[in-house]
Amino acid sequence: MKYDLIVFGGGTAGISAAYIASKHGINTLLVEKSDVLGGSITQGLVVPSMKLDTENINTEFFNDLKVFADKYSARYTYCDGNEAWFNPELLKIVFDDMLESSKCNVLFSSEPIYASYNNSDETFNIKLNHKILSLYVESKYIIDATSNGKIFQLLNLDFQNKSEQSQSSSLRFILTNIDIDVFSKWLTEYDKDRNVTTVSIGSSQIYLSTAYTWDKRRKWALEPIFSTAVANGDLEYEDTAYFQVFSIPSMPDSLAFNCPRIILEDNEDLTDPFVYSRALKQGRQRIFRLYNFCKKYLKGFENSYISHISDQLGVRESYRIKGKYTYTKEDIISGKKFDNPALACDYPIDIHSNNDNNDKLEFIKHTYYLPVESLISQKYDNLYAIGRILSADFESQAALRTQMSCFSMGEAAVKDILKKYTFSQDKKQ
Ligand SMILES: Cc1cc2nc3c(=O)[nH]c(=O)nc-3n(C[C@H](O)[C@H](O)[C@H](O)COP(=O)(O)OP(=O)(O)OC[C@H]3O[C@@H](n4cnc5c(N)ncnc54)[C@H](O)[C@@H]3O)c2cc1C
Repeated sequence: MKYDLIVFGGGTAGISAAYIASKHGINTLLVEKSDVLGGSITQGLVVPSMKLDTENINTEFFNDLKVFADKYSARYTYCDGNEAWFNPELLKIVFDDMLESSKCNVLFSSEPIYASYNNSDETFNIKLNHKILSLYVESKYIIDATSNGKIFQLLNLDFQNKSEQSQSSSLRFILTNIDIDVFSKWLTEYDKDRNVTTVSIGSSQIYLSTAYTWDKRRKWALEPIFSTAVANGDLEYEDTAYFQVFSIPSMPDSLAFNCPRIILEDNEDLTDPFVYSRALKQGRQRIFRLYNFCKKYLKGFENSYISHISDQLGVRESYRIKGKYTYTKEDIISGKKFDNPALACDYPIDIHSNNDNNDKLEFIKHTYYLPVESLISQKYDNLYAIGRILSADFESQAALRTQMSCFSMGEAAVKDILKKYTFSQDKKQ
């Protein structure tokens, strides 16, 4: 089967690329390993998308996503003006609808197992596995949005060297049947100076977020509660590494937890399959302790229960590809301009550490720009990589990995393809 473009990975960045490509008439196949679209957003329960305070570019996907999400009540605008506060379950349906309406060909439960490049006609040949069946597909253009650079790996292409620094991972979850009214009243009373808490009454539910971390350089209102729980043996100290909760649109009695953080030994690395597997089990144990902690120590949680545990470990950084340009922290600091910007951003350099006092949230007071060349393979002009695997150094990846940037990367890659090449008008198979 021949396509003009194949996108591998229907997650945050890949869905944007596949939707925009199909919407603009490119005969596109999207290949997704799991049975659901959305990747980190849906399977990983990563909500909300972090807000940018600068004017971004390549926002066609995000603007369309808002319209589709509103059809399903899968979004609200938070009290700080963030329009990207999504419901992770409903987005599964929203993404299906978007790709259906753009007439994108989607294959679920499928993944590439072999890839080669034909120099004479400059096409990629890929063997896919769908459960026990194999399929052969061919395309002139490929976008790797698998979050691990699977196509780059199959083509034996180079990755960036591993950094000495590392980002910790997390396993997210949702608690349900919380009395949010009681919790929000208690929280506003407890966190009097509202250092990290927001509570406001939205049109149909309460909007709420709060946090606590083990970083002693900041003042946390919830600190006495966490210290007591550790002293009582209800929590391990490492369970308190990072605790962050967010309300969820159309789930008025639930809260999404951006935790627990997975704590690894210094010599452990998540690219080791056994370390990765142990990390998942560690995360689920921590979730159970945090759940019992909430029931015992926080008002309003008495009758709550665990309704969702993320299906995938929340990995912030692992493989980064080698592209035509490697974006760096210096590019962020200087705000360097490029001829072909893929996105504009002002998100901080956000590093989650394995030990206390090593977290970093370095705010950037100006807009910085990522060139599209950081999304194109060093070796092949017609091979792109988008999402958290972009060609960047460790610290700039820590600023560019958020969902808004991933959406723009997908769109920028497709628009670059559209600018450079003409496609046959003979469409969908
Ligand atoms: C714990 C955590 C909390 C975060 N919090 C926030 C936040 O609050 N706000 C924010 O904006 N950002 C946040 N981020 C960052 C952001 O969510 C991610 O960096 C971003 O979503 C990654 O997008 P992606 O497209 O690269 O990967 P993903 O969204 O993970 O998509 C990858 C897709 O590829 C598929 N896939 C994988 N391998 C294959 C294969 N071999 N073949 C086919 N398909 C494959 C996967 O199933 C998945 O669908 C957080 C990240 C983490 C880990």
